[in-house]
Amino acid sequence: DLYNKLIELKGNIRVFCRCRPLNTEETAEGASMAIDFDSAKDGELIVRGHVSSKKVFKFDSVFNPEEDQEKVFEKTAPFATSVLDGFNVCIFAYGQTGTGKTFTMEGTEGARGVNYRILDELFRVVKDRHDLFQYEITVSALEVYNEQIHDLLLTGSQPSTTTKRLEVRQVAEGVHHVPGLVEARVSNMDEAWDVLQTGSKARVVGSTNANEHSSRSHCIHCVMVKGENLMNGERTNSKLWLIDLAGSERVAKTDAQGERLKEAQNINKSLSALGDVISALATKSQHIPFRNSKLTHLLQDSLSTQFCFLLLMLV
Ligand code: ADP
Ligand code: MG
Repeated sequence: DLYNKLIELKGNIRVFCRCRPLNTEETAEGASMAIDFDSAKDGELIVRGHVSSKKVFKFDSVFNPEEDQEKVFEKTAPFATSVLDGFNVCIFAYGQTGTGKTFTMEGTEGARGVNYRILDELFRVVKDRHDLFQYEITVSALEVYNEQIHDLLLTGSQPSTTTKRLEVRQVAEGVHHVPGLVEARVSNMDEAWDVLQTGSKARVVGSTNANEHSSRSHCIHCVMVKGENLMNGERTNSKLWLIDLAGSERVAKTDAQGERLKEAQNINKSLSALGDVISALATKSQHIPFRNSKLTHLLQDSLSTQFCFLLLMLV
């Protein structure tokens, strides 16, 4: 699976693992962690299996349940500078439903997640650099559901699944674009956050069961950065992608029918397409199969040149 494809990778690909704490019900039931943190310091995670079997996984970093949003952010903060330096950065939250993907990315008002913190850091560095660089920043919010792209900034109070679908188009060699996608110009953190929150709300309003819907769609925030070096006129053009992936749980064919089965197949398809793209990138393959899913097609440009890839695995 995706984990095995990723585990040997180094360079511009990082894989972090975060384990959520047991919730009150689990604690009440006397559940215990199936994971050992003794050696988590070295990025190693030991998962206790049955009786004597145990598995050891190696990550770039492991966050144990006590480590808070700030700790996770500390590891992601440098990527804000990477984006402003002209790198394309993709941050993914991957894991089964309920493991903390949305908590980690979106967070809550009292415990801000990666999205808020990295945007805040981005604007802090922009301010810091204002004598030397000029930046133009726009944001988009979209969702991929059942292999269809929906614009969360266009939806408003409409169910996102009833609005016009968007497509990825190649407009020039190595340049892909989503015609019609709303790109909101923002000049500070508050404006950017407002826009992205509008997107997140549209996602909730547009579905009859917000939790179920969000576990079956990929929620994507994109921050586009155009930079100009005021000394030498050099320009950069880069994107920061913040992606809360659909739940990675396997839906048994026997349990799912009709719409559920189609959703499950589409999720499996796009998550395995993402895995295939990552392994092709890691092995520096000639052919990277970007076009096998909407998600990877959307990210094609950002994973083709000067990119950093960060996968947060939630368990
Ligand atoms: P997912 O998006 O992967 O389905 P959620 O982010 O919705 O999962 O998390 C499920 C529940 O667990 C939420 O109530 C969330 O607040 C809680 N949770 C997840 N991770 C943590 C954490 N690290 N610390 C505290 N609560 C967490
Ligand atoms: Mg979620």
